[in-house]
Amino acid sequence: MGITTSEGSGINYEPETCAWCGGRRGTTEGPCRVCGGKGAVLVRQPARVCPDCRCTGRRLEAPTEACTGCGGAGWDGVRGARLPARGPSIRELFEKFRGGR
Ligand SMILES: [Zn+2]
Ligand SMILES: [Zn+2]
Repeated sequence: MGITTSEGSGINYEPETCAWCGGRRGTTEGPCRVCGGKGAVLVRQPARVCPDCRCTGRRLEAPTEACTGCGGAGWDGVRGARLPARGPSIRELFEKFRGGR
């Protein structure tokens, strides 16, 4: 059998337009760093826009920076996002990293 992950069966991902580059696969700076130049990101279905940036991919208070909720993709539940919208807190990850028990 293949590799089983926590996001395996039962969760459906569909490509949605990357908010950071608007689906143009890149910006004036070069290839889009959020979607890797593909113009789309895989989003958990049913797709919901990121509540932090309202699908702009930018931080409202700092429009030149990527939204910390979705990593710049503009959607909630983006597969492979650096900062999962739902999941362990930084503190929990830190405790796990230390191997504390
Ligand atoms: Zn993009
Ligand atoms: Zn966002």
